[in-house]
Amino acid sequence: MRPTGKLHLGNYMGALANWVKLQASYECYFFIADLHALTTDYADTSQVAPNTLEVALDFLAAGLDPARCTIFVQSQVTQHFELPLLLGMITPLGWLERVPSYKEMQENLTNKDLTTFGFLGYPVLMASDILLYQPQFVPVGQDQQAHVELTREIARRFNQFYQGGEHDVLPEPRVLLTPAPKLPGTDGRKMSKSYGNTILMTDPEPVVRQKLKTMVTDPARIRRTDPGEPDKCPVGDLHKVFSTPETMAKVYEGCRSASIGCIECKSWAADSIMRVLAPIQERRASFTETQVVQILKEGSMRAGARAEQTMSEVRAAMQLSPAAVAQ
Ligand code: AMP
Repeated sequence: MRPTGKLHLGNYMGALANWVKLQASYECYFFIADLHALTTDYADTSQVAPNTLEVALDFLAAGLDPARCTIFVQSQVTQHFELPLLLGMITPLGWLERVPSYKEMQENLTNKDLTTFGFLGYPVLMASDILLYQPQFVPVGQDQQAHVELTREIARRFNQFYQGGEHDVLPEPRVLLTPAPKLPGTDGRKMSKSYGNTILMTDPEPVVRQKLKTMVTDPARIRRTDPGEPDKCPVGDLHKVFSTPETMAKVYEGCRSASIGCIECKSWAADSIMRVLAPIQERRASFTETQVVQILKEGSMRAGARAEQTMSEVRAAMQLSPAAVAQ
């Protein structure tokens, strides 16, 4: 997760909530990708560190448990600087220029100059982030599959050039597709920080209620007496993700028969969201900044030790040490 600020409900339902489940059955590594933040925010880095702390707090608030998974900061594990350089040597430029988000982001973020070496190379950084842990799986939504595919191609090319012992030095990881419902924001578009339509995991109840009040609804339901269709309504989409089947049934019945108004329906949605957010916000308040810093420090050391195992295999396979020749 990039440290772009406090996380929103889309980040929670689309990624974090799945991670919390995964930590129970897999050995997991979760990190805050502050080096990736530099690919777009290199001109002003002042917010990267404070945002890293906020994201770490959101991770812990959601229920990631440092006793059951490793939570770390990318820039604090120096192997994340080392492997990209080596993998960059073997990655053809054409592979990077073909990544769909490359042109897309350059066209969308017109206020930033993204014609940099770092931005073109970010998929190599991403591949390194994954391969450093020699993982079996990468838990991502469908939108990230192309990146994992490129990671597999880079690993395959590395393994063809450089042999380890009996096994491939960089095993090709597989995608572990996680359900990622696309959550709408208050304007009906995908919830996203760049659209200014988010409900944050940290928003207090009155703010959640206020944001929902102004949320767009089924455009066919103009007057209170017009029947509506929850399947065509962004608030209906929120209900589908957050509400119980009983509330869902009341929404469908009440909206289609116009026996409830949008205001009532939105207050039920706010109730459902707060049922999820209240324990998360309570957990967030139980951590001090000093504790978070310590958790990230310990996690980064653990990640570094694991990444170093991979790097020593990588260096050996590439025959990078003159000392090895002298022996
Ligand atoms: P981003 O910082 O926008 O790249 O988002 C980080 C993670 O949150 C990604 O894994 C996304 O899949 C997920 N995510 C972001 N926005 C949404 C959304 N509106 N609905 C569902 N998942 C989302």
